Amino acid sequence: MRVLLVEDERRLSGVLKKGLEEDGFAVDAAFDGEEGLFLAQSEDYDLILLDVMLPKMDGIEICRRLRSQNVKTPVLMLTAKSQVEDKVAGLDSGADDYLTKPFAFLELRSRIQALLRRSRQEPSPLLSLADLELDPIKHKVVRAGRLVELTPKEFAVLEFLLRRKNEVVTRTMITEHVWDYNFEGMSNVVDVFMAAIRRKIDNREAVKLIHTIHGVGYKAGQL
Ligand code: CA
Repeated sequence: MRVLLVEDERRLSGVLKKGLEEDGFAVDAAFDGEEGLFLAQSEDYDLILLDVMLPKMDGIEICRRLRSQNVKTPVLMLTAKSQVEDKVAGLDSGADDYLTKPFAFLELRSRIQALLRRSRQEPSPLLSLADLELDPIKHKVVRAGRLVELTPKEFAVLEFLLRRKNEVVTRTMITEHVWDYNFEGMSNVVDVFMAAIRRKIDNREAVKLIHTIHGVGYKAGQL
């Protein structure tokens, strides 16, 4: 899952980015409104966290422009202001939810999960494939009743595959959704992660759930 964080308070931005990355999100941070709008228009995000009071362009204006350009990415507004009229303006501009600062990280996290679920119209947060189950909220993976320990990045890669189960995903799709725009890793980084994930998920099972599609990428599914 890839998140755009538009927040001019560097410390808060740093704390949020770190927390979200620990949850397996890839986070691009923008520190003013113009940069935020530019990234939101040019990259493909699963969610935008948008501060209202920003230099150069405020969050309400950014949201309004994105919606008028038919960018439908869910937007969660963050603001220090708690007045009712700001909330109304934020939601009128096309934001999906609103969080007033200061907020607890746990609160942010549960709002994010609720928004992502709503935008995908999923009745249940659980992602499953045969006897493999991934819970994005509890950050838990179970294969055949056995708890599987994954690092945050491994978890993010597996979540990405399971959200597109039975579809072939390319290495580029995976890197774009799981790593942020500063990423300049080796081209085989996805293969390294996939090998680790398969070792943990598939190695001891008769039925393999993650497959290499030669020359293209990977697929989570049953052959
Ligand atoms: Ca601000």
